[in-house]
Amino acid sequence: MASIQKALVVGGGIGGMSAAITLRRCGVQVDLVDLDPQWRVYGAGITIAGATLRAFKALGILDEVVAHAYVGDGIQICDRSGQRLGIVPTPAAEEGIAGCGGIMRPLLHRILSQRTLRADVDVRLGMTVDRLDSGAEGVDVVFSDGKEARYDLVVGADGLFSRVRKLLFPSAPEPQYTGQSVWRIAARRPAEIERRHYFLGGPVKVGLTPVSADQMYMFLLETGPRRSVLGDAELESELAGLLRGCHGGPLHGILDRRVPGTGIVLRPLEGFLLPGPWHLGRSLLIGDAAHPTTPQLASGAGMAVEDALVLGEELQRAESVERALEGFMARRYERCRLVVENSLEIGRREQRRAPIEEQTQLVEQSLRVLAQPI
Ligand SMILES: Cc1cc2nc3c(=O)[nH]c(=O)nc-3n(C[C@H](O)[C@H](O)[C@H](O)COP(=O)(O)OP(=O)(O)OC[C@H]3O[C@@H](n4cnc5c(N)ncnc54)[C@H](O)[C@@H]3O)c2cc1C
Repeated sequence: MASIQKALVVGGGIGGMSAAITLRRCGVQVDLVDLDPQWRVYGAGITIAGATLRAFKALGILDEVVAHAYVGDGIQICDRSGQRLGIVPTPAAEEGIAGCGGIMRPLLHRILSQRTLRADVDVRLGMTVDRLDSGAEGVDVVFSDGKEARYDLVVGADGLFSRVRKLLFPSAPEPQYTGQSVWRIAARRPAEIERRHYFLGGPVKVGLTPVSADQMYMFLLETGPRRSVLGDAELESELAGLLRGCHGGPLHGILDRRVPGTGIVLRPLEGFLLPGPWHLGRSLLIGDAAHPTTPQLASGAGMAVEDALVLGEELQRAESVERALEGFMARRYERCRLVVENSLEIGRREQRRAPIEEQTQLVEQSLRVLAQPI
């Protein structure tokens, strides 16, 4: 195993917590800092791809996720009137594991954060890094509270607008708006929503993902210029307007079936692939800090967890940190590139309203590749 005593993880999202848990398993002492003093996550649902379920198993959280989530198979494709057209298969990544699923983000966050704390990770909230001096033998860090420390490894898992990325690679590209925004709500799940659904062929793409026995979330992808921040009343009326053309049975009256206490979440879509390598000296970027993706393949979270697992494997296998980081890149770049580029391409097809088969074909093909061993 590469010699590492002490690591810092910057960012306590899905990727950062997975990295912290994995590094602890390798016997490394781990500090984790997150900018958010409350360590919160917004209240939308998240779709789980088959490969993500496999990664959850390797991380040791699959049983707990399954106990709180929906797991199943296939995506029911419908036209915008709700007419059923066919099912896109969601291949299982491992025997005995379902092909896909869905869970509310706060629940997934709770499962991961409890595991992180139980693994004896030193979590410090409301904190970030101000300076990183990442050399071949170690990383000198200055935190935002002025404290200083030296680490054998720094993992930058601080998401789309990563500060670690800016510190390591100041001329890296910035995230670009793709021309689409996504609206999400949590709603009661009717019996007819037995699996994930896509409603295609209209000016907007709508999807439903069950997240438990009696709840689901709806996403609506809209094409247009980037929206400004909207108040609650505007969110409600704008979303109602966008749904007007969708007559699909389960979509009818969906705004009235929202889960009490949950709101409408609107986000512009941004994505890009940072050219490799994603490491400098003894610092490495993982998850959205390196390969932020749009959600068309529902695989961003899975890629972040896989990054963490592969980092752990490579550190255990290699004789030096340098070799481990090279091994990491060799295993991660192509797979993450496929997720980012195919997701962006599906988004482009949605925006130009390509025939339904042209949209679903690339989803099906990509999921087949992602189910392969990593
Ligand atoms: C609209 C939308 C829908 C999506 N839907 C899905 C889906 O259905 N399925 C799926 O698999 N993926 C989905 N994704 C992608 C998925 O959410 C991300 O790929 C995943 O969350 C990446 O995890 P991460 O840990 O790298 O980053 P994040 O989850 O963004 O976590 C980053 C963490 O870093 C912290 N942080 C930020 N800045 C700093 C800083 N300077 N210092 C310290 N901490 C900091 C944040 O507080 C946060 O806790 C979606 C993405 C979007 C935009």
